[in-house]
This record gives sequence, structure tokens and C-alpha cells, in this order.
Amino acid sequence: MPRKDYRKLLPALEPVKLAFGQTLYESQSQICEVYFPNDCFVSMLTTVNSDRAAEVGLIGPEGMIGIPMALGVALSPFRAVVQGEGTAMRMTTAAFRRSFSTSAALKKEVFLFTHLLMIQIAQTAACNRFHVVTQRMARWLLMTHDRVNSNEFRITQEFLALMLGVRRVGVSVAMCALRDRKLIAYRRGTITILDQGGLLAAACECYKTVKDAYSRAQADKGNSRPARQK
Ligand SMILES: [Zn+2]
Repeated sequence: MPRKDYRKLLPALEPVKLAFGQTLYESQSQICEVYFPNDCFVSMLTTVNSDRAAEVGLIGPEGMIGIPMALGVALSPFRAVVQGEGTAMRMTTAAFRRSFSTSAALKKEVFLFTHLLMIQIAQTAACNRFHVVTQRMARWLLMTHDRVNSNEFRITQEFLALMLGVRRVGVSVAMCALRDRKLIAYRRGTITILDQGGLLAAACECYKTVKDAYSRAQADKGNSRPARQK
């Protein structure tokens, strides 16, 4: 966003620390604040039968948590859980509504991100239906890697099972398969990516499809043209 537009938003933005596992919204709960991650990332989980959940989206510094507010809806359809701790800028929904109605630059960014989030959610639905756990885990590790910007991050097998919507034994088998191929190491709740290229080859095409959509959008923005799809 252009600096002069960002400066106008600054008084309404409050820096906050978000902790691993913190729930920002429950599913079907009122959205009171929206968040712009600086270096943290947040999982959007959809719940089934009130006791099962699966991740449908992962949002980091490229986006915003609380997109329904931009579409005039104050209820979150998803549970939003902090996956990678760090800092974010928080804005009350009242301030967001005001800024959104007066800032063309903010509106443009939020609409573009909404479009990209829809691509990610749609791709995740197809991914969950058509791709095996090892491919999906490799995709998830790459998506996380992009957001933490590091080869090493904390994750438990229980949490990974929740993210992928599979049983823990399925996570264990997939993790061993990736470890045996020397693509990752896993020790005491920390995953290390040893071979990013190999992990890319092990992941399903969904990772690249979504990443390419983001890259195209960034390139289009740089050329000051409206976002388009190939
Ligand atoms: Zn996939």
C-alpha cells in the first residue's frame, strides 16, 4: 500500500503479540477486531459436527484476519487460531469500517487479498479430496515455510493432524515417509526442512497453483494493472 495511505491508517492500528495456539475468533462468533500479521500466521479452521475441524486457509503477512468485515458480515465463518506466534497490527471493527469506506488503497488491497484467499480455500477443498496425506503435508510445510521465512518451526503431530484433518497415525506415517527421503527432520516438536526442492517435488500441485496466483497478483500490482487470471 502507498506510504501516504498507510500513514492515514496508523493511528487506528495497535501492535499486538499473538501467542501460539491463541484463538482470535471462534466459528460463528462476532468479529470485534481485525488483524494484519507482521510476522505471525493464523489458520482458518472449519468445524464439522461441532467437534471436528480442518484447516481451510493459512494467512500470514500477505493478508488480513477478519475478511468478512470487508464484505459487510460481522460473524466469522471460521475459527481463527494462531499457528506461528509473532506480532500483528490490530484494528477495531469500527475503525476498520471507517478506514475501509474512506481509503481506496485499503479497499483495493483487501479485495485483492479476498480473491487470493478464495483461491486458497477452493484449492484446499480440492486438495483434501484428491491428494494423499504425504502430498498434503509437504504442501502444508512449504506454505508454513513461506510465512515464517525459516527452515525450522515448531509443530506437534497432534496439531498437524488437526490442520490436515487426519488421524495422528496418518500424520506419523507421512512424516516418516518425508523423513526417510531426507526432506525433513523432526525432533521434539520442531520440524526442519532439509531439502526444499525435494519437498516441492513431494507436494501436490496445489502448493504451486496458489503460490503462482499470489505471484501473478503481486506482479500485476507492480504494473499498476488490475489483477487478472490466466
Ligand atoms: Zn493438493
